[in-house]
Amino acid sequence: MGVYLLQSTNEFDIEYSYLVNVERDYARKIKRGSFVTVPFGRTNKPIRAVVWSILPPDRDINNVKLKYISDVCENIPALDDKQLKLVWQMHEYFFCTVGDAIRCFIAKEGYKARVVKKVFLAKPRSDIDDIINGNTLRNIKQIDTLRILTENTAGMTCKEIMSILGLKGDSVVKTLIKKGLVRIEEEIQLQEYNQPVDVRGMNTYEAHVLRSEQQKAHDFIVRLVNNGKFAECLLHGVTGSGKTEVYMQIISKVMEKGSSSMVLVPEIALTPQMIANFTARFGNTVAVLHSKLTDSQRGTQWQRIRNQEVRIIIGTRSAVFAPVKNLSIIIIDEEHDTSYYSEEANPHYDAREVAVMRAKQENAVVLYGSATPSVKTFYRAVNHDMYYMALKSRANNKPLPQCCIYDMRQKRLSGMGDSIICDDMKTEIIKNYAQGLQTMVFVHRRGYSGQVMCAGCTKTLKCKKCNIPMTYHSSQNRLICHYCGNTVIKPEKCPECGSTEFNNQCPGTQKLCQELHALIPEARILRMDADSTATKDGYSDILSRFASKEADILVGTQMIAKGHDFPGVTLVCIVNADSLMNMQDYLASERAFQLFTQVAGRAGRAELPGKVLIQAYDVDSYPLTAGANGDYMDFYKNEIIVRRNLDFPPFCSMCTIRFSANDDKRVFLHAKTQVAKLRNIICENNEQDVLVLGPARDTMIKMNKKYRWNITIKANSREKILQILKRWINVKKRGGNITVNIKFE
Ligand code: ADP
Ligand code: ZN
Ligand code: ZN
Repeated sequence: MGVYLLQSTNEFDIEYSYLVNVERDYARKIKRGSFVTVPFGRTNKPIRAVVWSILPPDRDINNVKLKYISDVCENIPALDDKQLKLVWQMHEYFFCTVGDAIRCFIAKEGYKARVVKKVFLAKPRSDIDDIINGNTLRNIKQIDTLRILTENTAGMTCKEIMSILGLKGDSVVKTLIKKGLVRIEEEIQLQEYNQPVDVRGMNTYEAHVLRSEQQKAHDFIVRLVNNGKFAECLLHGVTGSGKTEVYMQIISKVMEKGSSSMVLVPEIALTPQMIANFTARFGNTVAVLHSKLTDSQRGTQWQRIRNQEVRIIIGTRSAVFAPVKNLSIIIIDEEHDTSYYSEEANPHYDAREVAVMRAKQENAVVLYGSATPSVKTFYRAVNHDMYYMALKSRANNKPLPQCCIYDMRQKRLSGMGDSIICDDMKTEIIKNYAQGLQTMVFVHRRGYSGQVMCAGCTKTLKCKKCNIPMTYHSSQNRLICHYCGNTVIKPEKCPECGSTEFNNQCPGTQKLCQELHALIPEARILRMDADSTATKDGYSDILSRFASKEADILVGTQMIAKGHDFPGVTLVCIVNADSLMNMQDYLASERAFQLFTQVAGRAGRAELPGKVLIQAYDVDSYPLTAGANGDYMDFYKNEIIVRRNLDFPPFCSMCTIRFSANDDKRVFLHAKTQVAKLRNIICENNEQDVLVLGPARDTMIKMNKKYRWNITIKANSREKILQILKRWINVKKRGGNITVNIKFE
C-alpha cells in the first residue's frame, strides 16, 4: 500500500510502499485516508503517515523487500475522499508537502496531545473470569488488575490502575501484556463541551429589520445559495453598514433548509462580542474555533461538527478545515485581512483559496465581506469574475467622523523642535481629555527605521525598478531593495530636490508615551506594541482595560486599529502616516488605505461624534486622501494603474521562496545558487515572461535567530510558476539545515 509521511520535506514527499499484515490490519478497517505508523529509513524510526493508495497486498517492488506497516491509528478519524482530494489540491496549488496539507485536517497537534493510552482486556470476559478464579496467575496485583478491568470495560489508563491498586510502577501491566491478557490501545480523550469563550454579561441585539439595500443583498445571496451551485460574491459595505446582520439572516435561511454555514473572521475580529451575538441568535448550534483553544477544546468542537450537532461554524483561518458536512455557504468577513494567509507556519495556505476549493466540492457559495476589499478581489469583481453587491450607507445613520490631515512639512518649517506631535494635535488631545473622553494614538511599527526620507522634499528613496522604498544599511552605507536585491550607495544629494539632509528615523511608541505624559501628566496612558503584548494574554488584557475605561489614552502600533469597538473613543490620531504607506512591499498602499479607513471607522462608533487627525508629509498621496474621505473607488483607480504599470498582482503571479538558517553567508550563497538553477530551468524550457529576482533580504532580516533571504519568481500564470518549482525541486540539492518556505502572493 502507498503512504505519505506527515512530516517531510519537499524532497522526501513521495508515496512510499509498505506491506499490510492482512489479518491484523484489515481487521482494523484500514483504508484510503487511514492514519498509520510506519518504520522509516535505516533506523526504522516510527513515523506517522496516511494511507494514500491500496495496492495488491504482499508483493515486492523492484526486488526491494518491503516493510510492514507497524500500526493503524484508529483514534484519528480517517480522511474521507473529499478531504483527500482537497489535500492533493493544496499540495499542488500551494506547493506544500502532502503531509503539510494533511496536518491541517487533524485538529492541530491534537493527534498527539488528545491521545491517551488505555489498557483493555485482551481476551473475552469469560476467559478472564476463568483466569481470575483459577490457578494460572499467582500474583494478586495481576489478578486485581484484571478484576478492575472487567469492571471498566471502557478501558483504563495505566495511571488509573496504578493509583487504585497502589502500585508504584507499570510492571504489573507490562507483565500482563506479555502474557497476552491485556493490551494497550490509543484513544481520543473526549471532553465535555464547554463554551470556550466567556460571553456572560455581553450585550447582544435582536434581529433588525433589514434596510432596503441590505434586503437586496440578502435576497440575492440567498438565491445564489438556493441555486446549489458554486458561486462567489463580494459584499462591499461601508463600515457600519450592517454586514453582520445580513450574514446572520442569510445563515438563518441556510439553517431552515437544513444546511450548514461557515463564517471565517480575522484573528483579531473574533471577539467575545461577536461570539455573543452569534450564540444569542443561534444558541448551541454554533461551534467557535480560534487559535487560543486548547487541543482538547478544538478536538471537542471538531467532534461536534463531525457529528452534525452544530450547523454554524465560526472561526479564524484554520476553521476552513473543519469537518463540516452539507455546507451551503462560506462567509469570509473582512476579506482583505492578512491573517487569512498563513505567513509563518507551513503550509503557507490562503484560507480564502481553500474556501473556494471546498465550496467547489460542496456546490456552495463563497461570500466575501469588506469595507475595503483587497485589490485582487475587487479586480475580479470588476471583471465579472464574481458577483458584486454593495451597501453604501451606514445602518445607524451616524455620520463618518470628521477627518483632518496635517501637513508636516509646513509644521516642521514653522518649528516643532524635537516633538513628535504637532501643536494642533496636542490641543485636540488635551481638549478631548478635558471632556473625559478617550483617545487612541497610532505610530506605525515600533522603532522602525531603515527607510531614508529627504528632509527637503520628503520623498522616500525608492528602488527604480520596483518603486518600493529601499532600506539603509549603515555598515555598507548602502540602500538595498528588499524586493529585487537592487542596491546603490546612499546618494549625497536627493535625486529629486538636491537637498543633502536625510531623515531615517520613525518615532517609537515609547518616545510618544513620554511626550504625551509631559503634555498631560495626570492622564492615564496605556501602551500597546510588540513589547507590552509579549505575553499570551497581554494583547486582550490591554484592550479590555482600555474598553473598561481604565485609561484615557491608548498608544500603539497598527495592532490597535482592528477588531474591538471602543464606544468611548472619540479621537483617533495617526502620528506618522508616511511610514505606513512606504513599507517595503507592493501591498503597502493597499494596507495603508485599509488602515486609514478602519481607523476612521473606529472613531465615534457610539453616540458621540468622532474625529480623526493624521500627520503626514506626503499629504497628497492617494492612499491617504482616499482613506480620509472613505473613497474606495478613488483608491482603487489609482492603485490598479500602479499595479499594471509595475506588473504586480493581479497582473502577474508571484511566488517567494524563503531560505533561512543561522549562518547568514551560507544562506545567501545557497539562495544565490538556487537563483542560477531556477534561471537555468527557465532557459532550458525557453520560458518567456518568467522573472527570477533576488536573492534579497526578507523584510524581517532575522527571525528566531535565523537569517532570511528571498527569491521572487514572477510569471503571467500560477501554473507556470508551479511547473518551474516542480522541476527545481528535482535539481535542488539539500542545503544542509537551511529551511525553505514557499509562498504565493
Ligand atoms: P459592519 O460590519 O458592516 O461594519 P455592523 O454589522 O457592525 O456593520 O453594524 C453596525 C451597527 O448597525 C450594529 O450595531 C448593528 O446592530 C446595526 N444594524 C445593522 N443592521 C441594521 C438595521 N437594518 N437597522 C438598524 N440597525 C442596524
Ligand atoms: Zn528631496
Ligand atoms: Zn527593487
